[in-house]
Amino acid sequence: AGGAAPAVRCVNVSKRFGSVQALDGVDLELRRGQVHALVGENGSGKSTLTKIIAGAYEPDSGEVWIDGDLLPRVTPREALTRGVRVIYQDFALFPNMTVAENIGFEGDRPGLGRVPRARARQAATESLARLGLVIDPDTRLGDLSTAERQLVAIARAVSGEGDIILMDEPTAALTQDEIDRLLRSVRALAATGVSFVFISHKLREVVEIADHVTVIRDGRLIASGPADEFDQERIGFLMTGGHVVNE
Ligand code: ADP
Ligand code: MG
Repeated sequence: AGGAAPAVRCVNVSKRFGSVQALDGVDLELRRGQVHALVGENGSGKSTLTKIIAGAYEPDSGEVWIDGDLLPRVTPREALTRGVRVIYQDFALFPNMTVAENIGFEGDRPGLGRVPRARARQAATESLARLGLVIDPDTRLGDLSTAERQLVAIARAVSGEGDIILMDEPTAALTQDEIDRLLRSVRALAATGVSFVFISHKLREVVEIADHVTVIRDGRLIASGPADEFDQERIGFLMTGGHVVNE
């Protein structure tokens, strides 16, 4: 880590599923400490791009660079080692374990198993603090709200040395208050150098959180630039190609 190299750089990435060209020559540059919104309508290729960065899908062509290194083949293991963490809507936590156990448990790393209780509690407290959160680490995860579980998933990612966090529609199930809290935590972590790809089609939160915006449509890069070049209206226009946006 460190230096001037972007956290992630995708160059001319393409991916086809059967007759569907999910991605067609897409570029993306995620800088250190950046919150990079990836915006597009349903089916535009957002999740496919994050899965390529995370090593879940192999691109048909194009390059993926992480921390300044061109990776000839990104495997899930390689991505994990490089600090990439994906937070999906169903964040793969353990409802019957406590917050501390969930954070201490590196479920992403088969074979490592559970860490000692005291270490797990300490790691949990530290990573929750980095997110600006006050959640009792002894709370059973299943007793938390969806929003709090989401935050615990992020705390776990950064506790496990994740510093490139790909959030795929993290706010889909959250209320506005919960979204605001999530955005504050993302901001606090970005200030410590954690980089985020933030996928959403809720344009209000996109313009609120993002440093940088990339818009894709039908698998193609439509626009990418600093967030201050975008407002909700322009993003909506770009992602739909001029159709009416429902928001
Ligand atoms: P988004 O996340 O922007 O909604 P996706 O990346 O999930 O879009 O999907 C892009 C396109 O690729 C869609 O047409 C989708 O149906 C297709 N697609 C995605 N994953 C697969 C897959 N594993 N198999 C077949 N088609 C897929
Ligand atoms: Mg998706």
